[in-house]
Amino acid sequence: MLSWSPVSAQIVAPSRSRKTSKLVILGASGSIGTSTLDILSRSPGEIELVAVSVHSSLPRLAEILTCFPSIKFAAITGTQPPESLTEFSKKFAGVKFFWGVHAAAELLNAARSEKADTVISAVVGAAGIAPTLRAIELGYKIALANKETMVTAGPVIERALASSKDASIVPVDSEHNALFQLLLGLDAPHLKLAILTASGGPFLNRTPAELKQVRRQDVLNHPTWSMGPKITVDSAGLINKGLEIIEAMHLFAIPLNRLDVLIHPVSHVHALVETADGFRFMANRPSMLFPIAHALYFPQSPPVYPDVVTRPEAWPALEFRKVDPVQFPGFALCMEAARNGGTAPAIFNAANEIAAGLFLDGLIQFTDIPVLLEMVLSASKIEQGSELGLYLEADARARESAYAQSKRLTKVEEVV
Ligand code: NAD
Ligand code: MG
Repeated sequence: MLSWSPVSAQIVAPSRSRKTSKLVILGASGSIGTSTLDILSRSPGEIELVAVSVHSSLPRLAEILTCFPSIKFAAITGTQPPESLTEFSKKFAGVKFFWGVHAAAELLNAARSEKADTVISAVVGAAGIAPTLRAIELGYKIALANKETMVTAGPVIERALASSKDASIVPVDSEHNALFQLLLGLDAPHLKLAILTASGGPFLNRTPAELKQVRRQDVLNHPTWSMGPKITVDSAGLINKGLEIIEAMHLFAIPLNRLDVLIHPVSHVHALVETADGFRFMANRPSMLFPIAHALYFPQSPPVYPDVVTRPEAWPALEFRKVDPVQFPGFALCMEAARNGGTAPAIFNAANEIAAGLFLDGLIQFTDIPVLLEMVLSASKIEQGSELGLYLEADARARESAYAQSKRLTKVEEVV
């Protein structure tokens, strides 16, 4: 039977009383990390920041540690020369530092021993899988922005959550956070369709010939959202929306045939649910402050941000239209991976992480991204199962395959 219990098992009515929580931010230097810090600064004393991770930016970490003296633990998850880390850590005597491959897990352990209860996972890519699983084992409430974890290892995360007494996930992705709120109090059999919206990105009205000419800065110029580089590339080809469909399947246990996407260029409506009596939707101006604050404060009510809210009479006209899969081949391939299930989403996601990285490094064209994805998918064997190792192996093989196959694509300088 249709149900969204895996994630929303701990749903209770929002309460008005304020209870302080202690927070860990994984990926504090990124776009979601920065918006999270903004939320904390707007309501000082309500959420205590005790631990942060960054991958590589020591200058940004120094700024964060200076602005938030409550931080007791910090992790640097990427490789850095050991001397620079020792020098850096001397400047912040009250902070315990972790680095190396297990840094995020050690950070989560240490923060939990100091009664941290909430973690926001704002890292990018399947690198988020291990810390998410550790956070579940430790019984954290996880505000999950990192969609690649659900796409790659959804069945494993679902199983880990089901066997945890305390852990829960509240989605941060704006569409999924909206859906989470829309599904509260709605009995599963009454849901006809859950619809995620997509802005359509910067190339909604471009022809295939025009798309061949787009440059890095055109792709990174998203019309409605300001985000990190990888998700911005994903959004330009609607691949982000395909990933979000898979994310929704796992977060809410909604089958693919009850999920749909509508293009909605102004990004004010984030999700809709269709029931027998019509459509309900969740709308506000495109700002990640709303879903992040909702997830951090849930089950309490989030603060109000009058400077960010706009009233409906000031909204642009709300237009919706179907996606043309021919116009967005990466989206069509992702939907095929969703239909195939098993390791297909993990293969798609890993190949896409490589493809987006190659594009951002100027090594392949934007239109080569779906070409490379198709090459990797057609050369890969899809397997079914629920063991973490199966998904991690599929991820690793797809990355190798994507690197190898990318050599067959035309070099960027030969066509520009
Ligand atoms: P970003 O690139 O701005 O930030 C990524 C963060 O992850 C940085 O702090 C970086 O230091 C860290 N990081 C990078 N590689 C890492 C690795 N291998 N291991 C551990 N940490 C690593 O990305 P973002 O836009 O903030 O997005 C973060 C996640 O949230 C993505 O999964 C994205 O799809 C999702 N998301 C983002 C938005 C948004 O508005 N930015 C909206 C919805 C969902
Ligand atoms: Mg989204």
